[in-house]
This record gives sequence, C-alpha cells and structure tokens, in this order.
Amino acid sequence: MKRIIFATGNVGKMKEIREIMKDTDYEVVSMKEANVSPDIVEDGQTFEENALIKARAVCAASGLPALADDSGLEVDYLNKAPGIYSARFLGEDTSYEIKNKYILDKLSGVAENERTARFVCAIAAVFPDGREETRTATIEGRIAYESAGENGFGYDPIFYVPEFSATTAQLTMEQKNQVSHRAKALAAIKEEVLCRL
Ligand code: IMP
Repeated sequence: MKRIIFATGNVGKMKEIREIMKDTDYEVVSMKEANVSPDIVEDGQTFEENALIKARAVCAASGLPALADDSGLEVDYLNKAPGIYSARFLGEDTSYEIKNKYILDKLSGVAENERTARFVCAIAAVFPDGREETRTATIEGRIAYESAGENGFGYDPIFYVPEFSATTAQLTMEQKNQVSHRAKALAAIKEEVLCRL
C-alpha cells in the first residue's frame, strides 16, 4: 500500500476522498495522522495555485506524496465573486446564513438567465521527486431565489442545480458526490495521475 497525505483538516472531505480512493493501492492519510502541520499561507491568485501551495507544503514537511484541494463559488453576476475568497467572504467568522443572504439580496430581481454560477474545485498532487499535477472541475448551476435544504455546507442552500431541480443542500451526499466539482476533480486526479504512476 502506498501512502499519500490529503492536506485538509475537514473531516467531510477526508471521508469523500477515502471513498473515491478505496479501490486503489493508496492509503490516504490525514495531516493529523501523518503528524504534519506546516504553516501555509494561501496567497495564490487562482484555485490551482492555492491547491499547489498547500500540497507543496505538506509534501515538503512529510516527504510523502501530497494531495490538496481548493474550492469556491463563482457567481457570474458578481464578476465571479466570491471565487477564491469563498471561505473568507465577508469575514472568515461570518456565518453562511449571512453570506448566503448577502448573495441572495445582491441578486434580488435579477432574471434567471443572469443567475448562473458554479462551484469550482482544483486538486493538486505533489510528489517528493518534484512532479506536480493539477486537475480542476466544476458543477454548473444558478443562484436560487431563496435558500433551501439542510444538507451539505457553505453555499449549498443557495446553489440550484437544474438537472436535479434542487439546491445542492437538498441532495443526499451520494447524489452530490456523483456530480460535485470536488468528486469530479478527485476522480480525474485518481484516474489520470495516481493510477498511471
Ligand atoms: P476551501 O476549499 O476549503 O478553501 O473552502 C472553499 C469554500 O468554498 C468553502 O468554505 C465553502 O464556502 C465554499 N464551497 C466549496 N465547495 C462547496 C460546496 O460543495 N458546497 C458549498 N460551499 C462550497
């Protein structure tokens, strides 16, 4: 079994990647399990740069291959904000109830065809020999007219996916994992990078 670290403190993301990697010869370990906690300054200008910054830091600190992700919501009507600042939007400690209400208010009265948005996820893989790869994926949708649903996290209650006629907060985890930006980017890294080594 080869070991690879996934650079996240998020238990939900850890579960998702273990599920996706379960049929490979990789054992995915968390930063805590690998006992690494490097200082990371996420000052990249793109999702890909931020994912690479995290994966490089964890690979350098552990000597093991490392994966990291960076994700966020792009709202076209808001010039793709909050984008890479999704977690920090209106302040790191501001609740998602407030962040989501702010976006709904900004789009109040805006027609359906101008409410397009997407979740973006970049995954970086960095190896001790210096090899670096990134894969990025999206899920396209629209900003809903009102919040709906209790599942998921973050901006899920306001992200409407036409193919399901529901917000991502109204999907089960299994449904979301079939179509999500993160699942698609992870699958690409698994199939195009890790399984070809
Ligand atoms: P990070 O990738 O952990 O830096 O966080 C990105 C931020 O984007 C999260 O805190 C959420 O606010 C938002 N985000 C990313 N993916 C999703 C998703 O699947 N649902 C809802 N919000 C998301």
